[in-house]
This record gives sequence, structure tokens and C-alpha cells, in this order.
Amino acid sequence: MNQTPNERIFLSPPHMGGKEQHYVQQAFESNFIAPVGENISGFEADISQYLNYRRKAVTLNSGTAAIHLALILAGVKAGDEVICQSFTFCGSCNPIAYLGAKPVFVDSERDTWNLSPLFLEEAIQDRLRNGKKPAAVIAIHLYGMPYMVDEINAIAKKYEIPIIEDSAEAIGAWYDQKPCGTLGDYGIFSFNGNKLITTGGGGALLVKTKALYDRALYLATQARQPAAYYEHTEIGYNYRMSNVSAGIGRGQMEVLESHLKARKEVNNFYRKLFRNILGVTVQGEPDAKFKSNFWLTTILVDPSEAPFTNKILLDAFAEANIESRPLWKPMHLQPIYQNAPYYGDQVCEDLYNSGLCLPSGSAMGSKEFDRIEKVIKKLIG
Ligand SMILES: *Cc1c(COP(=O)(O)O)cnc(C)c1O
Repeated sequence: MNQTPNERIFLSPPHMGGKEQHYVQQAFESNFIAPVGENISGFEADISQYLNYRRKAVTLNSGTAAIHLALILAGVKAGDEVICQSFTFCGSCNPIAYLGAKPVFVDSERDTWNLSPLFLEEAIQDRLRNGKKPAAVIAIHLYGMPYMVDEINAIAKKYEIPIIEDSAEAIGAWYDQKPCGTLGDYGIFSFNGNKLITTGGGGALLVKTKALYDRALYLATQARQPAAYYEHTEIGYNYRMSNVSAGIGRGQMEVLESHLKARKEVNNFYRKLFRNILGVTVQGEPDAKFKSNFWLTTILVDPSEAPFTNKILLDAFAEANIESRPLWKPMHLQPIYQNAPYYGDQVCEDLYNSGLCLPSGSAMGSKEFDRIEKVIKKLIG
């Protein structure tokens, strides 16, 4: 057996490509250590090109900030209701609260684990009966798996409600030949440290027009009117990405395709590993329209069939210094959102109770795969 040191295997660590430091160095050389500069315009152009010029990108200091600005651009105001998929990370819905608006949570369907068209429509109709039309819908491509875009868009169109597409986890995922981030009225990416590519913390808002780009930029830079003394007629935010971070982003865009390939290989490894283990299902694409980026490979463990539970597996990994993580705890079960309305039927609760996120970093190779395989072999005896 090879005597590899027992280094921690992380869920999804940063994976630099090599050119990042070159762009960061350029920022230093030009002394644009600031929220303006060539790396910002370059990174924005790279993102926009990657999206086949279907959107303009405004780079910001987080994905959460991007959702906040998207809600403002969509016209959400204090007291409004905003529908959000319950099965997600809090960054999706906290911006609703920032605005003094109210989240209404909706369950997932079992195919993509994302927003259930059935319960979305039920929620909209019920809120309408209560006399309030939801001001926006936040739909999420969780773990990089596209949501049911056609069905969700049809409902949004029918009731004329804007869609905010939380693509924080889904850069490089596609639905029906179109890149995620371009499938709603407003899209967002996150470049947090654990995402598929990273700027060490950052995000992007994706908008359809130059006018929206200008408006987002204005809101992200403290809403300064063009006067030398800074005239302010609206509340703005300090949300712009730094030119240093954007340099990391430019380098990461150059390795996006190879990172995507690596995540797919990780997913294939787990598919093979669990193929013959009863009661363990690796989440997969429902049909050819869906192209996940496999940001994280996730499994469901049926405790009545599998030789272990998700909890036992998590503990076994932890003992081998391997990070795994429960699926997102649904927002309607979170203490801060316990009074928010919820429409659903236990799907995301079930997913949360039986699922697990597996280490999926794009730098993983045979050494890591061997250690993971050993943990599984030991568990099944
Ligand atoms: C990471 C994430 C966010 C927030 O992005 P940050 O850059 O961390 O602010 C929002 N939604 C989802 C689904 C995420 O995974």
C-alpha cells in the first residue's frame, strides 16, 4: 500500500489554474488595487463571452450581494412577498429580509431537487387569494443541477412574476443548450472559495441590457449621482468586486472547462463506486436537456436498504480526515424562518434527512479516490 500522508480531503477546495497570479501581478503593477481596473472589465467580458453574450456581467463582492441587487432591479420593496425554493443555502433568501420583504418557501421536486412547479403554482395561487401577488421568484440550480426551466418559466410568464435565477452553484451547467445564468430575468454567480471557480469571495449579477448593467453598477457603488461632490438621491451599496479578486477570476475562467471535466470525472468515480451498493443513489440528470456541472456529487441513502446511513457514512469519512456534508437544511426548518409560509410535501425534508454531499474538488485524483473507496469498502465489510 502506498504510504500517503493522511491529508484532509475537502468537499470543494479552491483549485488555481496558474494564470491567476499573472493577472493579480498586473493589478499590482498598474497599482489598480481598487474596485476599478482592467481585471474587472476583463473578467466581466470573459463571463459575458462564456454566456454567449446573452447577458452582461456586473462583478460584485459576493453572490449574496448579486441576489440583493437582482431583487432591487426586479422591483421588490419592503412588505412584498418573494417566493424562494426552501432547499438551499441561506444566501439565496437572506437578501429578501435585507429589503424588509417576506420570503414564502416552496418545496422541491424529486428529479432535480429544485423548485417544484406544482407547489410553485399552488403558492402563487394561494398568495393571490390572500390578496398579495408575489413580487419575484428565486429559483435555484442546486449543486449545479438545472431546475425545470421550461415549467418554471411557463408559470412565471402566466402570472407575470420575474424570476431570479440563483446560479451560484451552477456556472458551467446548461439547460436545453443554454448556459445557466441566462435562463431567468436576472441571474447570479458566486465565486466564493468553495464554488467551482473562485475569486476568494465574490459574485456576479447577470443582466439583459446595458441600462440594467448601468443601474446595477450605480447601486453597487453607493448610488452616486454624477456630480463631483457626490449627490445621493437613493440608498446604494458598496458591493463592487476588487480588481485584485477579478484578476483571480480571469485566471479561473481559463481553467473553467478543465475544472468542469474534472468534476464530471469525480461524479463518474462515485457512480462506479456505488453502482452495486443497494440503497445508495447518486443524483443524476433527469434527461438530455439537463447538463449539471456536478459542482458537488450528492447521494441519497435509503436506510432500509443500504448497509449504512448517511450519518454513519459522514462519520466514517470524518474519521479518515475526509470532509462530507449533509444536504442543505431547508430554509423553512431554520429557526430564523420558522414563521414564513411554506408550500410543499416533505420532499426537501426527505432529501435533507437521507442525503450527503461528497468531496468533489476538481483537483482530486487516484490518491483521493483510493482513500474514499477504502472507507466505503470498510463500511460494507
Ligand atoms: C454560495 C451560494 C450563494 C451565495 O453566494 P456568496 O458568494 O457566498 O454570497 C447563494 N446561493 C447559493 C445556492 C449558494 O450556494
